[in-house]
Amino acid sequence: MSLIELGHLVTGPFISKRAAVLLSLTVPGDPLSKQRPRWNLKTATPYTPGETRHREASIAALARSQRTELSVDPMGLFALRVGFYLKGNQRRDVDNMLKLVADALTGVIWQDDSQVVEVFGFKVPADQPREARTEIAVLRMPGLMPYTFATCLICQRPFRTYPSWRFRTCCSKRCWGLSIRRRVTLTCAQCGKHFETKAHRATAVAPLCSLACKRVYGSESRQCLQCGARFTAARSTKRKTCSPVCARARRFHATRVTFPSPPVGGQPSAGAGVGRISKDGP
Ligand SMILES: [Zn+2]
Ligand SMILES: [Zn+2]
Ligand SMILES: [Zn+2]
Repeated sequence: MSLIELGHLVTGPFISKRAAVLLSLTVPGDPLSKQRPRWNLKTATPYTPGETRHREASIAALARSQRTELSVDPMGLFALRVGFYLKGNQRRDVDNMLKLVADALTGVIWQDDSQVVEVFGFKVPADQPREARTEIAVLRMPGLMPYTFATCLICQRPFRTYPSWRFRTCCSKRCWGLSIRRRVTLTCAQCGKHFETKAHRATAVAPLCSLACKRVYGSESRQCLQCGARFTAARSTKRKTCSPVCARARRFHATRVTFPSPPVGGQPSAGAGVGRISKDGP
């Protein structure tokens, strides 16, 4: 059942309906959009423009002052609801204004934006220019971030990561810097020889000592689906035929319409009667 069928997207409030309100605050002043990062030509580093930075800092300070016992939660899930009461008719996108609020609360309530699992925002003109403001509610949602833990290659301390981040081997930039310089001895998965390499390479699925070993390890013997001959192919490819000639022949046969005849006197097997359609039409 989809959200639209249930009417949830139309009627709201959403999954946060019964979540606990963690924080609600009003930030006075005309709401701002998140400005794009600018480039500092002298230091060759990106920076956040001052206006955005100041507003983020004031939202963070307000949040901290309202909830003094508040500490950053790196594991929790949150919902963010914001109302923007605008002064004037300047063009502003709700999503860019929301981004500023989400970034302001990073390091105050959550450690990373990705912990926000639901957002809701609206903009309306303020009744009076001096009533321009941003109203923010943060709710704590049930559940935790789907982190897994890995052990830092250098300091051996556990750190939070994702299964898809398998190349993240260190807890911090500092440890990563050390791992690039530190050397370790590994055993080649192909020839069994011991060899020295940089520590950050030690996490490879199979350590290999040389380009020659990489080539041998990375290939496997397969049987051609056209002529049946054995051939060598790289593990990373899906090659099914030994040569371009066989590949072309296989493509040609595959485009013919072939209807398998159903077994006589029995139940038709799954897929029976469904033929392959020719590229040239029926
Ligand atoms: Zn570390
Ligand atoms: Zn080797
Ligand atoms: Zn072949």
